[in-house]
Amino acid sequence: MTEIPDRFEPPERFLMGPGPSAVNPRVLRAMAAPVIGHLDPATFDMMNELQDMLRQIFRTSNDLTYPVSGTGTAGMETALANVLEPGDVAIALVSGMFAERMREIASRYGADVVTVGGEWGVPVDPRDVAAALDQHPNAKAVCAVHTETSTGLRQPLQEIGRICADRGALFLVDAVASLGGMEVDTDGWGIDVCYSGSQKCLSAPPGLAPITFSDRAFAAMEARKKPPSTFYLDAMLIRRYVGTERLYHHTAPVSMLYALHEALRLVLEEGLEARWRRHEEIGGELLAMLEERGFRPVPPEGYRAPQLACVWLPEGFEDRPNRTRLLQEFGIEVAGGLGQFAGKVWRVGVMGESCNRDYVKALAEGLDQLLAG
Ligand SMILES: *Cc1c(COP(=O)(O)O)cnc(C)c1O
Repeated sequence: MTEIPDRFEPPERFLMGPGPSAVNPRVLRAMAAPVIGHLDPATFDMMNELQDMLRQIFRTSNDLTYPVSGTGTAGMETALANVLEPGDVAIALVSGMFAERMREIASRYGADVVTVGGEWGVPVDPRDVAAALDQHPNAKAVCAVHTETSTGLRQPLQEIGRICADRGALFLVDAVASLGGMEVDTDGWGIDVCYSGSQKCLSAPPGLAPITFSDRAFAAMEARKKPPSTFYLDAMLIRRYVGTERLYHHTAPVSMLYALHEALRLVLEEGLEARWRRHEEIGGELLAMLEERGFRPVPPEGYRAPQLACVWLPEGFEDRPNRTRLLQEFGIEVAGGLGQFAGKVWRVGVMGESCNRDYVKALAEGLDQLLAG
C-alpha cells in the first residue's frame, strides 16, 4: 500500500511548456472562495460578467459565448460536434498535431474531411484553401489552428477568413494557445466559431474552454437535422443555461469559473494590446536566447508564435535526460516533441503569467549548465 502523506504539496516550478502556465496568486485565492450553487443568482451575475469579458477578449459581439466545462479539447469537440453533421464536408488545414486532432474529431462525428497542407511546421497557403473550396463548393466548414502548439507555427487567419466568408463556408478556429497572448480578432477576421483553453495565455488552471459562435454558426446549428450525438457538449442545450432561461444542463464547475473570472480581469487590467506586446517582446528574447545556444526554430520566419518557441535540439543534445535535469535541478518545465517531432524538438512557452524575463533568465542559466555537461 502507498503511504499517503498528510497533504500533497506541489513542488515549485517554472512552467515553461505549452501550458499549463503559471497562475497568479489572485486567481488561486479566487478559487479558494466558498462554493455556491450553479443556479444561485450570484453565480449567474458572475457568469454574465465572465461572458462579457470573454466577448472583449475574443473581440466579438457574439451572443453565444461561454466557457465550456472541460479543457481545450472539449472546446474543440464542442465546435466540431455542434457545427458538423454526418455527411458534411469539412476542410482541415493541417500543420501539426492539433489540426490532426480537429480532423480526427470531425471525422468521428461523421464529417467527410478534406485535408489541405499536412506538413508539420509549414503554414497553409490561403490560395490552397480557395482551391479546396472551389473543388468542394458545398463544404460546410474550414477548420484551422491559430497557434499550432506541436510546431510553434502561427497561421495567419485574416485572408482565409475572407475566403470562407466569400464562399459561404463557416470558419472554425482553434485559438487555444493564442487567445490572450496574441491578436485574435474573431469578428474582424470572419471567424464563426473560436475556442480557447483556460491554462495557456489566459493563465487560469486547466479545466475550462472559452468558446464563441457567430450568428451564422448559430443558424447552421438551428438548421441541423438532428442534435449532435454528444449531450454534454450540446451548445443549444447549454445555451439554455448560460442564456436568459437559466435552465440546468450540468453542474457548472463554479470554483473554476471563479478562477477564470479573476484571470480574465487580470487580462483586461493589463489591456489586450499591452499583453500581446509583452508576449511579442519576451517571446523574441526567448528565441534569441535559445538560438544563441544552438537551438533552431522549426517554423519559417514570419510564422512563429512568440508565446511558444518550438526548436530543433542542437547536435548531440539529448531530449529526455536534459529535460529531466532541467525539471529536477532547476524546477523548470519545458515540453518535448509530439508525434513525429518526439525526441527532436523542445517546446518552450512563455504564456500569460509565465511570460516574463525572470523565467527566460532562469532557463538561460539552466541551459548553460546542461550545455556545459
Ligand atoms: C493545448 C491545446 C489544445 C488542447 O487543449 P487541452 O487543454 O490539452 O485539452 C488544443 N489545441 C491547441 C492549439 C493547444 O495548444
